[in-house]
Amino acid sequence: MKKIIFIAAALCALACNEAPQGGFPELNQNGKIAIVAHRGFWNCEEAGYAQNTIASLRLAQEAGVWGSEFDVQLTADNVAIVNHDADIQGLKIADHTYAELVELSLNNGEHVSTIDQYFEQGAKCATTMLVCELKSQSSPEREDILTDLCVASAKAHGVFDPSRMIFITFSHYMCQRIANEYPEFVNQYLNGELSAEELKAEGINGLDYNSAVIDKNPEWVTSAHANGMSVNVWTVNDEEKMKVYSEMGVDAITTNEPLLAREVLGEKEFKLQ
Ligand code: MG
Repeated sequence: MKKIIFIAAALCALACNEAPQGGFPELNQNGKIAIVAHRGFWNCEEAGYAQNTIASLRLAQEAGVWGSEFDVQLTADNVAIVNHDADIQGLKIADHTYAELVELSLNNGEHVSTIDQYFEQGAKCATTMLVCELKSQSSPEREDILTDLCVASAKAHGVFDPSRMIFITFSHYMCQRIANEYPEFVNQYLNGELSAEELKAEGINGLDYNSAVIDKNPEWVTSAHANGMSVNVWTVNDEEKMKVYSEMGVDAITTNEPLLAREVLGEKEFKLQ
């Protein structure tokens, strides 16, 4: 594994400096499918890192997958940090300050990173899209603060560019806000309760479906495409499911197993390098 990562890193050093061509394969009309590494990189814990850390993002960049997904939360003192769960070691992120939370150890002894630190690493590789999940907060005011912090940080690090990042969220409020203020970005709604037609009417241009939802409603892929919307499916770790969604014509799968997906998809993998 270390050897593969080393080779990938050497290739990335060349590839990462090339001009990116973002966007989804379906929108580029080439019939391919993009791989999104879930929370940084697939088996990052085996490689000695915690998920959703800068080290796990670096692994995804080095492997040259199309996208690397990460989750952004807001602390009590309004610092945007990268963490999947709403708590760290039992402390609720929304109720604690960054200073309190950064003291805590994640798996493997790492510490939680701020969005600034994360985007600093993200900026180093133009061929891995930053798939930014804005986590739902307790009020629209807090969701506005979180969105503003992410946008400001992305701008400060030169990645606030539709060819460098996309937004995903379960929050209908934040999804609508991105649609209104930043319509040039791919903006995928994670909750399957609204139809493509309803979302399109609000200016939302993408869907990110739980695999169970799309298994029950496979026609929703066609419906989304008919409305000009990209479709991502999460979290697809099974080889057979990878083949099914590829045949179904989804634009991207989010997976804990990006290297397995690469093997299964073969020439159908959509890459930016
Ligand atoms: Mg996520």
